Amino acid sequence: MAKHEITEEDLRGRVAKLLEEAHPDQVDQFTFRGKQYDLGLAWVHFPEGYGGLGISPGMQAVVMDELHKNAKTMYDDMAINAIGIGMCAPTVLTHGTQWMKDNLLRRIFTGEDIWCQLFSEPGAGSDVAGLSTRAVREGDYWVVNGQKVWTSLAHMSKWGMVLVRSNPDAPKHTGMSYFLLDMQSPGVEVRPLHQITGEAEFNEVFLNDVKIPADRMFGREGDGWKGAITTLMNERTAIGGAVSRPGGGAIGMLLDLWKARDRKRFTPESEIVLRDRVIKLYIESELLRMTVQRAKNGRKAGNPGPEGSVAKLAQAELNKRLWECAMDVIGADSLTYEAGYERRRPNFKSRETRLALAKYQFLRARANSIEGGTSEVMRNILGERVLGLPGEPRSDKDVPWKDIPRSA
Ligand SMILES: Cc1cc2nc3c(=O)[nH]c(=O)nc-3n(C[C@H](O)[C@H](O)[C@H](O)COP(=O)(O)OP(=O)(O)OC[C@H]3O[C@@H](n4cnc5c(N)ncnc54)[C@H](O)[C@@H]3O)c2cc1C
Repeated sequence: MAKHEITEEDLRGRVAKLLEEAHPDQVDQFTFRGKQYDLGLAWVHFPEGYGGLGISPGMQAVVMDELHKNAKTMYDDMAINAIGIGMCAPTVLTHGTQWMKDNLLRRIFTGEDIWCQLFSEPGAGSDVAGLSTRAVREGDYWVVNGQKVWTSLAHMSKWGMVLVRSNPDAPKHTGMSYFLLDMQSPGVEVRPLHQITGEAEFNEVFLNDVKIPADRMFGREGDGWKGAITTLMNERTAIGGAVSRPGGGAIGMLLDLWKARDRKRFTPESEIVLRDRVIKLYIESELLRMTVQRAKNGRKAGNPGPEGSVAKLAQAELNKRLWECAMDVIGADSLTYEAGYERRRPNFKSRETRLALAKYQFLRARANSIEGGTSEVMRNILGERVLGLPGEPRSDKDVPWKDIPRSA
């Protein structure tokens, strides 16, 4: 017999049950989100038993809509555990062991365990497959040595996903393995890197003789690239696909700033020109939101493909223009930045007012076209893997990694 199709009505009924059993305005984050997971409403496209219902990711919007209507307390996945929820959970589900799925997924969703992703190195960013961090098998363990960089949230993380070179004799894409790393393991050293915002949300991570149990590998030895692709595709969809409600998110904040503008600063002509920019940005934001939602509706359960780069690219470039426009709406006041000279871990205090948040976002948006793959790399992916255009020349593709020339 065909499996009962879950309708929007069914979903709304499940949300009502969730609110009855654990209302977010009355219980803490972990209790509420734990119940959300148990009822399959965490990420509806995951299988039953792992926080989902095995249906299209587009249906998550129904859950969010119902929660918005019935609760004041709304949790933002990106703020709770951006990397854990956006990238690590799908990787655990696709490539993890039974133990990992049973013990890690729920705690990722509730935010009990924060996660990070250790791919980039000083000599390997866009070309992450060229990385040098080495893993050598010793009995029941792999011993890892090397350096990672730009590791967001490493300082807060319980778990990391680390991509390493396990076979230097193989070509670069086939000589890598992918591990679950306990960030409290001896030999893991995390040092903050300070950003233009004044905060240090990411880090350098040094790995010195770090022992990882052999059963913490995602997939098999040499399959690291396969796992990494799952992570990266989900990362791009998570960054580009964080659809807010119509008129919400960044464009909502720009509209608020526009409404509160100091009218004395403008001549009638300059006001019209700026209003024109705000309206164009609103239209672009809505087009992006609808495009992303349409893509989600059309997707079945499972991992996204290279087309996720469309939203990542569009979102990164739009966000930069949007916050630039916000600074023009604010005027000369945008030149001061209160948090700029205090170097600290993110604590959100410096972003409490609308003005402070806008200035922070203007600076933070510069990273959007770098993090999760640069805009140039997104264009390459779209050209080659979506449009089928000829690929870039890759002379090192079939060469053993150890024979590829590199700086020390
Ligand atoms: C805020 C932030 C958070 C991050 N968090 C993480 C994290 O948690 N974990 C992690 O592993 N990494 C993280 N990164 C790193 C990020 O993935 C890399 O910075 C990114 O992939 C680019 O690598 P790179 O900095 O080494 O630049 P490079 O690869 O050296 O690129 C330099 C320039 O060359 C261009 N370029 C490179 N190759 C090509 C090409 N083939 N065609 C055209 N142009 C090209 C790039 O677009 C760029 O403009 C983060 C970065 C930022 C900014």
